[in-house]
Amino acid sequence: MLIIFDLDDTLIDTSRYLTPIVFKNTIKELISNGLQIDEDWAIKTIFQIDKKSISSKESIKKFLSDIFAKKIFFDIAFKAMTSQKNEIKIFTLKNAKSTLRYLSKAHKLAIVTKGDVKFQFEKIKKAGIDTSLFSKIVVTKKSKQLEYKRIMKDLGYESLDTFVCGDRVEYDLKPAKKIGCSTIHMKWGRGKKIFKNEDRKVVDYTINSLEEILKILDTKIEVKNAGK
Ligand SMILES: [Mg+2]
Repeated sequence: MLIIFDLDDTLIDTSRYLTPIVFKNTIKELISNGLQIDEDWAIKTIFQIDKKSISSKESIKKFLSDIFAKKIFFDIAFKAMTSQKNEIKIFTLKNAKSTLRYLSKAHKLAIVTKGDVKFQFEKIKKAGIDTSLFSKIVVTKKSKQLEYKRIMKDLGYESLDTFVCGDRVEYDLKPAKKIGCSTIHMKWGRGKKIFKNEDRKVVDYTINSLEEILKILDTKIEVKNAGK
């Protein structure tokens, strides 16, 4: 099997540890560049917006639009978000490293993540994820579907033999389902909060912790063999 993972809130614990720090530092950067807002109010407001938001970038965008900030502040904010200071710690989700190591012995693994190339690789490195376990690691700013297809072709896998695991149904799983892959919804971060009824059609499996994948894949193999 080929298993393609999302990064943020699927392999690493972004929303609990990283997002709050990113917001605080971004607000500080905006203020130091001349945006006239109260720091505590701004942080409180952005956390409020983020609860219903699809990404931290969208939250910052909405916050700045709401206060009619000049365009320059959007640029400052987006830059600040992806150039965080070195001392930031990044953690994987529970059992991520051992699960990945185990899976890599029997399957091909890949990561497709949205965002800034440098920052995404920095996060992988800081979280201590062993990149040698993955046949492909792709950072994209566009739809993930194209990358899923490309990876499957490059590694020689059909959609029937491909699983995609991510926390966001809309961006990680919907594009995968459209091309016939099996989907695993990681209920973490934004994936925990934003789940619409129609998402059920897109999600084949739901997990609360990464090691549950081992069970899903074993079950799948058993069922296949039983049919023979
Ligand atoms: Mg994610």
